[in-house]
Amino acid sequence: MLRSQFLQALRDPVRPTVSVEFFPPKTPEAGAKMLDVARALRPAGIDFASLTYGAGGTSRDTTLAYGAELVKLGFPLVGHLTCVGHSRAELTDVIAGYDTAGFAGILALRGDPPKGQAAFTPHPEGFAQAEGLVRHISTVRPGRFAVGVAGFPERHPDAVDDLSDIRFLAGKVAAGADFVTTQLFLDNDDYFRFVARARAAGVTVPILPGVMPVLSLKQARNFCGFCKARLPEGLIQELEACGPDEEAQRRVGVSWAVRQVRGLVARGAPGYHVYILNRSESAVELFAQLKS
Ligand SMILES: Cc1cc2nc3c(=O)[nH]c(=O)nc-3n(C[C@H](O)[C@H](O)[C@H](O)COP(=O)(O)OP(=O)(O)OC[C@H]3O[C@@H](n4cnc5c(N)ncnc54)[C@H](O)[C@@H]3O)c2cc1C
Repeated sequence: MLRSQFLQALRDPVRPTVSVEFFPPKTPEAGAKMLDVARALRPAGIDFASLTYGAGGTSRDTTLAYGAELVKLGFPLVGHLTCVGHSRAELTDVIAGYDTAGFAGILALRGDPPKGQAAFTPHPEGFAQAEGLVRHISTVRPGRFAVGVAGFPERHPDAVDDLSDIRFLAGKVAAGADFVTTQLFLDNDDYFRFVARARAAGVTVPILPGVMPVLSLKQARNFCGFCKARLPEGLIQELEACGPDEEAQRRVGVSWAVRQVRGLVARGAPGYHVYILNRSESAVELFAQLKS
């Protein structure tokens, strides 16, 4: 898919853009399962899939290999890429691989410090922020990829305040990013406040909200703790009301995500990005309920 077609779909004022996020499987068995999930989702009207990149370049080969498989299944594919542990020359090689494999876009990220390290230390010949990577992609493959960057409705954990966080986002967009995908959030007001800050800072590109149907209260607490996302009291109460019934909790997660997506689209979000955790059940139900 050409960059221009990709961006046109994202800017469609009538139909929301739908994307799903996979992570690179660690074993061939998990890989086969992931591709089954992808096949199950394909008819759901998904506009593009994205595939994450492991910390420290650990999934470099699997992101490329499984990304290529997703392309073969017909998904326009956004490959994530981080600066962690990579020199510019290595990043150039990965970008060339994404080009050959037919990826439509790249989500340019700084990445988190590898396990055991408190702060991010850039590679001596690499980049300290995602902004540098955005520029690099445009330099080595001008106009080839739709380039996305990460946004944080509840602001990045390292940011000192909302204003500086948005300034850095505006810097990534000024460097050439075409769209923003957000960290997951569970309260739509956080997204709309973030969008208002971004627009006030001159960011005009589409900002695709990240939504995750939670699987259980335990999973939500773990995942939100990791992402530093706030769990709304209303959702906690709905999950607690299910008691230990994990299937009931999963259904609450889907229902919350359906209400979130409807609210997002009704108030002008350009679409939504679903963190599916390589599982199809909740995502299939989410898409089916949104159609009804
Ligand atoms: C949608 C999405 C997908 C993700 N996918 C992955 C993935 O596949 N693999 C992975 O490892 N991680 C992934 N992450 C996590 C991401 O790598 C981390 O959140 C990381 O800590 C920050 O990455 P960034 O690209 O937002 O960094 P940046 O935008 O570079 O910002 C990082 C920090 O530096 C500050 N900063 C930015 N620019 C400057 C500047 N010019 N001067 C000084 N400070 C600055 C910012 O305020 C922020 O605190 C994803 C996150 C999101 C939201």
